[in-house]
Amino acid sequence: TTFEDFKLNKQLLNAIEEAGYEKPTPIQLQSIPLITAGHDIMGIAQTGTGKTAAYLLPILMKVKYAQGLHPRALILAPTRELAMQIEENIGLLGKYTDIRFTAIYGGLGPKTQIENIQKGLDIIVATPKRLLELYLRGELVLKELKTLVLDEADKMMDMGFMPQIRQLLEVLPRKRQNLLFSATMHEKVVVLSEEFLEFPMRVEV
Ligand code: AMP
Repeated sequence: TTFEDFKLNKQLLNAIEEAGYEKPTPIQLQSIPLITAGHDIMGIAQTGTGKTAAYLLPILMKVKYAQGLHPRALILAPTRELAMQIEENIGLLGKYTDIRFTAIYGGLGPKTQIENIQKGLDIIVATPKRLLELYLRGELVLKELKTLVLDEADKMMDMGFMPQIRQLLEVLPRKRQNLLFSATMHEKVVVLSEEFLEFPMRVEV
């Protein structure tokens, strides 16, 4: 199987080639067709397996091009470092698209982040607390959201983000695709997945 077999668009295939990805990794082989088909996913994969591209490529396919003002995909990450890394990956893989994206996280003032949101966004990457803060201040509209990713869900649970995630889940559109990735299947992740995923397909590497 090659990346061509996933029916990705030319813009993505060019970026993949330029990134030097020769063939899909096992988590990508399993996840990309299921995500593209619209399933919720419970993915058990460590960092280093290519899990980021496994969910980003189908999201980039679905979002396709810049449209409207409000994000259609939200990726939650436990730390600023991971959020920045995901943002970088969107830049790499989305290089030949006009998809607009940004990462928002704590540890610095929200001013620039708010300005970036106001310019219009297709994909937003965020840590849970800052995202909820900006949402509650009315700086962010989430009603166009079609896809939600929880990356490193086990770490998010360990860091105590369950209340923020629950609060967010309540305000997000009901009809959406949910993708959960975790390095482990801890009890807390199972609880989260039961609240959050609908008929999930499980992928594991
Ligand atoms: P991740 O597990 O998402 O943190 O990815 C680990 C590293 O693998 C990152 O540097 C990616 O750019 C790289 N990567 C992702 N997919 C592939 C692929 N199919 N072939 C080669 N490298 C990849």
